Amino acid sequence: MNVLVINCGSSSLKYQLINSDTETVIAKGLCERIGIDGRLTYQKAGLDKEVTEAAMPTHKQAIQLVLDALVNEKTGAIKSLSEIDAVGHRVVHGGEKFASSTLLTDEVLKVVEECNDLAPLHNPANLIGIRACQELMPNVPMVGVFDTAFHQTMPDVAYMYGLPYEYYEKYKIRRYGFHGTSHSFVSKRVAELVGRPYEDMKIIVCHLGNGASVCAVDHGKSVDTSMGLTPLEGLIMGTRSGDIDPSIIEFIAQKENLSLAEVMNVLNKKSGIAGMSEVSSDFRDLLAASREGNEKARLAIDAFAYRVAKYIGAYTAAMNGVDAIAFTAGLGENNAMVRGKILSHFGYLGVKVDDARNEKAAGVESVISADDSKVICLAVPTNEELAICRETVALVK
Ligand code: ADP
Repeated sequence: MNVLVINCGSSSLKYQLINSDTETVIAKGLCERIGIDGRLTYQKAGLDKEVTEAAMPTHKQAIQLVLDALVNEKTGAIKSLSEIDAVGHRVVHGGEKFASSTLLTDEVLKVVEECNDLAPLHNPANLIGIRACQELMPNVPMVGVFDTAFHQTMPDVAYMYGLPYEYYEKYKIRRYGFHGTSHSFVSKRVAELVGRPYEDMKIIVCHLGNGASVCAVDHGKSVDTSMGLTPLEGLIMGTRSGDIDPSIIEFIAQKENLSLAEVMNVLNKKSGIAGMSEVSSDFRDLLAASREGNEKARLAIDAFAYRVAKYIGAYTAAMNGVDAIAFTAGLGENNAMVRGKILSHFGYLGVKVDDARNEKAAGVESVISADDSKVICLAVPTNEELAICRETVALVK
């Protein structure tokens, strides 16, 4: 089967066409600046990337350009659109309505729309992408894969905030968690790599990219995760503050004469390692600056690692133990120094990092702990597109 995986944001759209039998990418790329001017990147497997400036005033036009590129006579990956058997869509927020992936019928889309309030930046864009695909490929089954679904197994003690209960009843204010597709994919892969049944293991996954979160997977189920109602809670991220004392919001609003929306913008877009370091939201820039002696960059990296370590400690308590700790996403897969800093907090758990293994692990599945470490530690590349492809196949077959 050929599955088109779509991750649609407000002004960009990433896509991959995957052969689900061989689990190989046939073509991939992205549309950027949708509604502004428009740039299409397209890459057929084995060929160079093509980047073209192409007007895409709407998402529908962007998807049309992707489909045209896929069937292009010279560089297309398929001969006709009939070779696309299903489309898998990433959907950010499924609220309490979706505990697993689902076929996107009109009824289901209405329910997804009801979750818009919970993710006003993401869900409406996801829906626009779904509807545009439905119009352009009316007979192709579409599946929604939710970032929140994997975490629907969290117990109430983990997902409830210490707020008046009526806010949960009236507005469904609770912790949902995100990156679920990645945490599920990586934790399953950890069990396979370790050679133990998934349902028997206590695994902590650290997804450390631009957005970052930690997840406790107990016997195959997410029992806690660091993001909350929105992806702002938890770790210090590229530009997001993560956990802060909520009183800071009013304090900044008064001192800086900012509206609530403006303070939220600071917390989402101007904080995190970017705000702390005053260098960049990109870890590679920060690591370079720190090596050159930039003290704020050093602080941002150390504070980031410290926060991750605190969450690992908390989740070890939540599960009453841990068998494996895995690192994934851009920084987690690639950076030995930050992984080492985080793991240095767990000597008391019997964690022993093998420095040579850790140094070598970059972008490939690797054990980074020593053979006699009590907790096995790994770097495991995530692959959210492949996970979405698998979920889609499972539902349409
Ligand atoms: P997202 O998908 O959330 O944009 P990624 O998983 O691509 O994020 O991770 C992006 C982050 O990972 C950036 O901060 C980037 O600097 C960092 N990163 C990527 N590759 C490396 C590397 N080789 N060494 C250190 N950090 C890296």
